[in-house]
Amino acid sequence: MIFYESIREYTMIVTDEKFYQVLLDNLNDGVYFVDRDRRITYWSKGAERITGYQKAEVVGRCCADNLLTHVDEKGSSLCLGGCPLSFAMNDGIARNGEIFLHHRDGHRVPVTVRAFPLRNAQGEVEGAVEIFNDNTNQTLMLERIAQFEKMAYLDTLTGVANRRFTEMTLHSRLDERHRYGWAFGILFIDVDHFKNVNDQYGHDVGDQVLAMVAKTLSNSVRSFDFVGRWGGEEFLAILANVDAAELHTFADRIRALVEQSHLAVGTGGQQVRVTVSIGGTITRSDDSLAALIKRADEFMYASKRAGRNCVTMGE
Ligand code: GH3
Ligand code: MG
Ligand code: MG
Repeated sequence: MIFYESIREYTMIVTDEKFYQVLLDNLNDGVYFVDRDRRITYWSKGAERITGYQKAEVVGRCCADNLLTHVDEKGSSLCLGGCPLSFAMNDGIARNGEIFLHHRDGHRVPVTVRAFPLRNAQGEVEGAVEIFNDNTNQTLMLERIAQFEKMAYLDTLTGVANRRFTEMTLHSRLDERHRYGWAFGILFIDVDHFKNVNDQYGHDVGDQVLAMVAKTLSNSVRSFDFVGRWGGEEFLAILANVDAAELHTFADRIRALVEQSHLAVGTGGQQVRVTVSIGGTITRSDDSLAALIKRADEFMYASKRAGRNCVTMGE
């Protein structure tokens, strides 16, 4: 019995005009209705938000009457010859399009519109409805922000973190080191005789070799480890939860994997190979960023002096 009651109540609400009004007003999209003379008969809350025009200002007025003045992307006015509402009313077919509305403050708002005819009980067109949203703009903006974020932290040549992001990461790991005692290891990785690669194959191939090395480095560490480009042909890896012996093992694995990587150049099957010299160290409780990097860099130079393509570890 209660079940039937509630159904009846529900039916009462949905046949109520007020219900549709509440529904339309709660859409993010803007919605408005016009009669055959393109006089606005309904204006939703979404339409108020997107255009800045309040319901009281527009209902009863003709939509072409110095109000929304739709234009296409070339700036041509659509209100006289190309109004999507007029088209929909004239031939009874719905229209979609990307156009620009006029905001009350004067600027233009890019919107996706959908206009379709409204028919009475006899099937005659007695007006039209237009639904529009400004999502295009928002989506584009969000995409741009994501792109900017990526650009700010990514080394575009190699696809690993850039110097700025590497420093930020080191700072926060050192903070944790000081606060909670979580030690971690770093590896300073420098490509051997890289100048020769540039001299022999050209700068473009040199760039591709750097990207190849970066890829090998990121592929040879664990998912929670970090690889960044420190500068030129120097990379830095940050490895968490390792002691000195484990760090040494990781470093040796990375060194060997780079040695066994190559870049294919030209069509003749030619391969460019490089090696890396690595310096590794575990953070101390009193380490500053500069002190930590200096130590790892010195151990890296010790590897250079030892003949390159090797790892030197130290405290
Ligand atoms: P070593 O074994 O002692 O490290 O020798 P190296 O030749 O690698 O070292 P050096 O510091 O003399 O030269 C590094 C070279 O890396 C010089 C520079 O032109 C080149 N380089 C730095 N950044 C880039 C880059 O983004 N692209 C290319 N193609 N070359 C770069
Ligand atoms: Mg160098
Ligand atoms: Mg070098």
